[in-house]
Amino acid sequence: MKYNEVQNFINGAFKSGSTTKTHSVISPLDGGELSNFKESSMDDLNEIVIAAQKAQKSWQKVTLKERVQVLYRYRQLLEKNSVELTEIIYQENGKIHSEAKAEIDKAIELTEFACSLPQFVNGENMEVSKGVYCSSTRHPLGVVASIAPFNFPSMVPHWTLVNAIALGNAMILKPSELVPISSQYIAKLLKEAGLPDGLFNIINGTQSTVENICDHPDIKAVTFVGSTKVAKTVYQRASKNLKQVLALGGAKNHIVLLPDAHPDMASSNIVASMSGCAGQRCMAAATLIAVGNCDAILDKLVGDALKIQCGTTLGAVITQASKERIESYITEAEQQGAKIILDGRNTIVPGKENGFYVGPTIIDHATADMRVAREEIFGPVLTIVRVKTIDEALAIENANPYGNACSVFTQSGGLANYITENASAGMCGVNIGVPVPREPFGFGGWNESRFGSGDITGKSSIIFFTKEKKTTTKWNPEAGVNWMS
Ligand code: NAD
Repeated sequence: MKYNEVQNFINGAFKSGSTTKTHSVISPLDGGELSNFKESSMDDLNEIVIAAQKAQKSWQKVTLKERVQVLYRYRQLLEKNSVELTEIIYQENGKIHSEAKAEIDKAIELTEFACSLPQFVNGENMEVSKGVYCSSTRHPLGVVASIAPFNFPSMVPHWTLVNAIALGNAMILKPSELVPISSQYIAKLLKEAGLPDGLFNIINGTQSTVENICDHPDIKAVTFVGSTKVAKTVYQRASKNLKQVLALGGAKNHIVLLPDAHPDMASSNIVASMSGCAGQRCMAAATLIAVGNCDAILDKLVGDALKIQCGTTLGAVITQASKERIESYITEAEQQGAKIILDGRNTIVPGKENGFYVGPTIIDHATADMRVAREEIFGPVLTIVRVKTIDEALAIENANPYGNACSVFTQSGGLANYITENASAGMCGVNIGVPVPREPFGFGGWNESRFGSGDITGKSSIIFFTKEKKTTTKWNPEAGVNWMS
């Protein structure tokens, strides 16, 4: 195996899961075994929670300004170790090196935001009646947990861990069982940065481990990022156990293309969005709705997609099962009468014959009711639906159950405003293929792409990871007593 056994990280030390059930970690690049780990038990989780509670009790007494000093050091370590971390992401996730490196860059940006929290977390103070003052302060929740998906082994854990810890909590991370190696490295760097033991912990496992997290009485809040089906069950189970929950789900993002769009800008942005990370991004362009005659732009788009080289500029998809699922969507669309303009099925990369590759795929003349146009495929597949009017395009976008992202490509400001105002999505873009809001804006979709309130990053995380205390104070006896204070 290329990497050591993946272990839980408990109170600053690595320790194997205590069940006998072993999972292999398979590289999508060649199907080889990279590592393995043992599923964790409720006892393992209990041990982590007890250590985390103890560490958090001391951590909450440290001021926010002091707490973030650890993260300043951690940010430097992320930069210093980015080559090694990039390689791990490449090996376990299969994305290309530049995409893996971009995850580290984003983790650094998220850490920088966490370092800036002292500038944002400043409570209010007001004289509410003569000589009587009311002030608000924010306090950590205690032990919190974060459940992550496979597609961003480093970025998604950083969405929550740095803010949660800066805000005075102890974090338990449950990485995806498909990509658990990056988190081992994150744990080492946090320790090296001087984070006290017990404040960052890892529990490895699958469904049963997630259920244990949802059921544990001493975990106060849970964030989840993954598919909508699991997001719903995690949201319901953890809420039923009276936790604070934010669960982000899947996506089917729409691009509304107007004939007046800048051809180069539209083509390059849309192709990068549908193919980046092999289409395994919850912000990827999935269904392109061409309004009127956009043929010149679409021809350019196909030309740009043809330049993509599998294995070099396009990474692998996560598993053989994913590859088969993606290919079956393409076959079904073909059988239903859509035209496969660019076909990524049966792609073999020389030298990586056992890798899980799907080439860039463009399906034209699909109808809005086909599964390729409606459902999340999570592969490098762009489905084109042609309509006559903008309102028809919006009706298709609005009818989709998801609501992560929607982008419009046009040179008309008025039409762009009309489309972004009427799209039913939490993150909209104008001439942007991947409209991810950057810090201090928060990341979060609408509809079936998010359960719970607020966003998972940015200023929203202050509200999610803390509770507010209001204190009313009076020092002057002459203020007397009235019914209010
Ligand atoms: P997934 O739902 O299969 O797994 C996510 C996590 O849930 C993993 O840690 C996994 O171990 C756990 N899990 C899986 N099945 C479970 C079950 N039945 N009960 C409890 N826990 C379970 O998602 P994935 O395949 O790892 O990731 C891809 C999905 O994540 C896509 O749908 C993508 O759109 C979504 N995603 C969404 C966002 C967002 O911000 N909305 C970001 C990234 C990924």
